[in-house]
Amino acid sequence: MPELSAHIVDVLPIGGPEKPLAYAVPPKLKGYVGPGALVRVPLLNRSRLGLVCEGLSEDIDPLRLKFVHDALYEEPVVTPDLLRLAQWLARYYAASLESVLETIVPAPVRAIMAPKTTRLLTLGKVPTPEEMDALDRRAPRQAELVRFLQQQPAPVARALLISRLKLTPGTCDSLVKKGLLREVLQDEAREVYADDLGDEEALPTQEVTLTEEQAAALVDVEASLEASEFRTHLIHGVTGSGKTEVYLRALERVVDAGGSVIFLVPEVALTPQTVGRLRSRLSKRGEKVVVWHSHLSAGERADGWMAMARGEARVVVGARSAIFAPLKNLRLIIVDEEHEPAYKQAESPRYHGRDVAVYRSMLCEAVCLLGSATPALESLYNVETKSYRLNRLSKRVDDRQLPTVHLVDMKREKLNPHGAVTISNLLADKLLDRFEKQEQSILFLNRRGYSTRMICPDCSHVAECPHCSVTLTYHRSDNRLKCHVCGYQERPTPRCPKCGSSKYKGVGFGTQRIEETVQKIMPRARIMRLDTDTMSKKHLFRKILSDFRTGKLDLLVGTQMLAKGLDFPNVTLVGMVDADIALHVPDFRAAERTFQLLVQVAGRAGRGDKAGEVVVQTFMPHSPPIQFARRADFEGFLHEELEQRREFHYPPFRHLVRHLFRGRNPEKVAFFAEQWSRRLEEHLEKLGHNVEIRGPVSAPMEKIKDTYRFHLWYFIGNVSKILPDIVALRKDFPMDDDIVDVLDVDPVDLV
Ligand code: ADP
Ligand code: ZN
Ligand code: ZN
Repeated sequence: MPELSAHIVDVLPIGGPEKPLAYAVPPKLKGYVGPGALVRVPLLNRSRLGLVCEGLSEDIDPLRLKFVHDALYEEPVVTPDLLRLAQWLARYYAASLESVLETIVPAPVRAIMAPKTTRLLTLGKVPTPEEMDALDRRAPRQAELVRFLQQQPAPVARALLISRLKLTPGTCDSLVKKGLLREVLQDEAREVYADDLGDEEALPTQEVTLTEEQAAALVDVEASLEASEFRTHLIHGVTGSGKTEVYLRALERVVDAGGSVIFLVPEVALTPQTVGRLRSRLSKRGEKVVVWHSHLSAGERADGWMAMARGEARVVVGARSAIFAPLKNLRLIIVDEEHEPAYKQAESPRYHGRDVAVYRSMLCEAVCLLGSATPALESLYNVETKSYRLNRLSKRVDDRQLPTVHLVDMKREKLNPHGAVTISNLLADKLLDRFEKQEQSILFLNRRGYSTRMICPDCSHVAECPHCSVTLTYHRSDNRLKCHVCGYQERPTPRCPKCGSSKYKGVGFGTQRIEETVQKIMPRARIMRLDTDTMSKKHLFRKILSDFRTGKLDLLVGTQMLAKGLDFPNVTLVGMVDADIALHVPDFRAAERTFQLLVQVAGRAGRGDKAGEVVVQTFMPHSPPIQFARRADFEGFLHEELEQRREFHYPPFRHLVRHLFRGRNPEKVAFFAEQWSRRLEEHLEKLGHNVEIRGPVSAPMEKIKDTYRFHLWYFIGNVSKILPDIVALRKDFPMDDDIVDVLDVDPVDLV
């Protein structure tokens, strides 16, 4: 039994009961188990990991108190605000505390990925002449080793000695035992701040003079930083208006004052320029930047994390999960392209990186800087309702013109003899024109593959995935029909598998087919395709981007990844092959996404000295998002879209919670969803909660991997207040074992 005077701490176990428990600190660990320390504690006859937190547990029974087994590191692995953030995340996103803690503390940190160590040998005590004599007589190999090391200026790796001098490990060990040699362990230097983004993107940064708008935004942000209180700024700046420059100046200001900064980008691999600019600025100051991305090895991850926890690095740039960086004195969180759906995590905890950034800034009384050329409607709305400060950058730097946008009504394009028109005459003309002028173009189509589906005109058979409710996409490169949802593949049959018709053929077009079509239009042009099919080969992806930048390519065909933050000065033409794709998605944000995509894509044109042009191909030229995007009329779009959302109680007016039910048997899933919905309705009414329930209905993607899906939508004003009651009711609801249900708060994926 621990002494009563023993120091007592509260530990939040990772797994097990979701509440802090009290433990005693054994004398040998005193000083190592402050708040945020990662410890091992005995729990239910097992040893579990836990985080030390402050004064939260109740019912301390000193007679039953157990000792903390061990502390994994000498210093805390998370900051106090992260402990509070964890509790909020679990509650707001209806996630288990276990999944939240596992998300916050990366697996390699939990697994202590000790750095690889090398065993070195060096001289120990100086041998007496008698000892040397004895060695020469009885163990000549040992004598040889001692003499060899006497001539070395520094310790030598044990393994190297054994192999070079052809020794046995025993020879080394007996000398160590005698004290004539000493073994030293050396941590193999690991590139803590390694990132494999290459240096070609580390652009030289000449000091620029801020534009008036940039300067005004910066002054405003600096005032918030000086006030040292929680404030959120929304930098709404057209593409190329110099938002990144404003982020970097604010960041430098914080770092110079000794604070820390988190810089979130939607995807590190797609923002090499931003990362490069950041690194070169900070390396001038001797500051290290942790680049937190998905290609880090476990060791790099652990080292980067601990470097931040120890305060050796004060700046991190990374995707979503970098929001949990254990930085002390966090003063600024930047969220670039804050409207990006990529900030939302698809697995539990289903958190939104931007929203967590705002919340964490509040906990730290820090400044949160959201930036975008196309802010999310939620953020624009928050400018009015939650007093976010709005900083507009309405002009491109150097007053470069925004590109001219041409709409092509595809209904009017004549059908050509080869089937539907994929590239309009206008677009083809402009592509040729750019090729002749040696300017670059980008064609953008958010659909991979060659043709969208295989269809039989005689019996209307369509090739579908046997496991999902989607059609199969034809990929010409490997002659396969593929399911883009589950990955299922099959070889296409030359004839219709149902009626044997020979007219069975692919219709619709994806990036592969566009690439082929454009190559026919411009046989001499150097064309490359960039989509997730090429993205999977990381080096190819980087090579294509750098070849494009250095002018070795004339044209890129790609999916929407191209619309993100890339800056190619020589691109003067951007073609949007099918602007309607996002409009057809069954999602209340369809118009918003279409609008954002068009504005973002257009922003890729004319980033250099020459004016840019955009050709938008659409079957719906009169639809509001396309019309507003064409004129870059943000106010107009916002106004119209907010009216619609208000009418149907959609976000940002209410929070949406999606409750998805999945199971093998569709009738059973529907039945349980229905039962649950009735129970919930009664319960909420009893509690007097105002929640609108819609559904259950089958999800737009009704079947995925042989699993049937139904969903319910809850429209809720105050999530933190009401959701816990829904979660509590769910715990008591007798759900069938075959059914999995998932609550997704503020979902971005509704299919
Ligand atoms: P955004 O993030 O809004 O797209 P960036 O900050 O990336 O814009 O700026 C676009 C380009 O203009 C970059 O190449 C950047 O170096 C340059 N730039 C930014 N601010 C200025 C300025 N005040 N004067 C000259 N060039 C600038
Ligand atoms: Zn057929
Ligand atoms: Zn499938």
